Amino acid sequence: MTVSNFSYQALPMRVAFGDGAVSHLPDELDRAGHMRALVLCTPGQTRIAQIAVAALGVRSAGVFDAARMHVPVETVSAAIKYASEVDADSCVAIGGGSSIGLGKAIALESGLQIIAVPTTYAGSEMTPIWGLTRNGRKQTGRDSVVLPTSVVYDPQLTTSLTSEISAASGLNAIAHAVEALYAPDASPVISLMAEEGVRALAGALPAIVDNGSDRVARRAALYGAWLCGACLGATTMSLHHKLCHVLGGSLNLPHAQTHAIVLPYVLAYNEVHTPAAKAALQRALGVDYAPSVALREIVTRLPIPGSLSALGVRSEQLQSVIEQVLASPYANPTPVEIEGLRDILHRALRGAAVS
Ligand code: NAD
Repeated sequence: MTVSNFSYQALPMRVAFGDGAVSHLPDELDRAGHMRALVLCTPGQTRIAQIAVAALGVRSAGVFDAARMHVPVETVSAAIKYASEVDADSCVAIGGGSSIGLGKAIALESGLQIIAVPTTYAGSEMTPIWGLTRNGRKQTGRDSVVLPTSVVYDPQLTTSLTSEISAASGLNAIAHAVEALYAPDASPVISLMAEEGVRALAGALPAIVDNGSDRVARRAALYGAWLCGACLGATTMSLHHKLCHVLGGSLNLPHAQTHAIVLPYVLAYNEVHTPAAKAALQRALGVDYAPSVALREIVTRLPIPGSLSALGVRSEQLQSVIEQVLASPYANPTPVEIEGLRDILHRALRGAAVS
């Protein structure tokens, strides 16, 4: 066995995983030394928020249900004001990346600590990355102050995710693991987590699409999402995440679906230069051919839009995306050049075969 040099920084988060784990929220509050929590959610997730309120009992300070994508600073200020009015000393962010993004921004701006109860596979709960939109401009940064004190994974809360959201969100999680495997700061422990995360999600997603109430598959998918989120939090992402960030931000595309469509094409571009990552993904996906091809097969089998054009992207919009991606340098195993980038984007636009 050959072990290369590496550095690895563990993040100080507690994870509680299991069916019904949301009922342990008061214990998690106790551990963090908090008395009362304000529950945060998006307007569409008030039913799930009420499950957290019921679990918290007298320690619930109410619900703030105005979380939105991209975390507008006005929403953050309104939530902090409300938390103070209802005498909350902490927040429970329940839902997808939008709810958890609001919780992180509250932690950043006010110091109130959060407990996260993720119900999608996006992985934000495992990272110190925050985002905040001020005057129409989204700023992002890293700060350990935004890390949840506990992350409660309750697979039962995910059975209401539609098959479309489950599939796209699962591929979004797999993208974190793929890029962690060839990250400039990859490490052996993170590579193990990445391989296991891909294995768990790739196995579970078809079963979830067949039956969203399949508890075994829901457990496996959320376990995989945790691992993939931890990979995202521990490493530096490359071309795929940069490209999806630019596509999502400049063309206002849905986050998870964009990741799902683009991933096989970027992996095809990178896998020739990353034999160890390629081998790990082959093991995880149970194939002896290119993992990029296997991932595209998964995307086409699941209820995920097959191309960027299916999301409404037009060919003439891609030049500006290419220019934005090339404008800031970042690590990638295959050097990012204009021709390669154009090829990736036009293939993803058409939903072309991956070869
Ligand atoms: P989201 O929170 O908008 O949720 C996606 C969809 O799932 C929404 O329609 C939501 O209503 C639905 N949903 C959530 N929970 C549900 C449930 N239990 N039952 C039924 N439907 C449910 O989006 P997301 O994909 O979870 O996260 C994407 C956002 O998170 C993006 O803004 C992205 O930038 C951010 N993000 C940040 C990080 C980070 O490290 N900071 C990491 C990943 C994603």
